[in-house]
Amino acid sequence: MALISCTECGKEVSDKAASCPNCGVPILGASAVSLNPQSHAKVTRTGAKWEGIGFILIIVGMIMAMASQGGFGGLLIAVGFVVFIIGRFK
Ligand SMILES: [Zn+2]
Repeated sequence: MALISCTECGKEVSDKAASCPNCGVPILGASAVSLNPQSHAKVTRTGAKWEGIGFILIIVGMIMAMASQGGFGGLLIAVGFVVFIIGRFK
């Protein structure tokens, strides 16, 4: 058992502890194995959601661009593309 300093408050915490008893921040090490799959799944789902929103914006933008010959549709495609890219890297 070793003592590591907390990344949030700097207090010495056991590396076997799941979280800092002082500030409650999760401690990397003992808890990393059990916490990571959950947080990874969450991140993937959030990204996929934004990817979906961006995709819908691009499609709606394309329809509007075709209906009104550019203008607002082009802007919607640009915004949708940015949201899509953000979703990709989330
Ligand atoms: Zn702490």
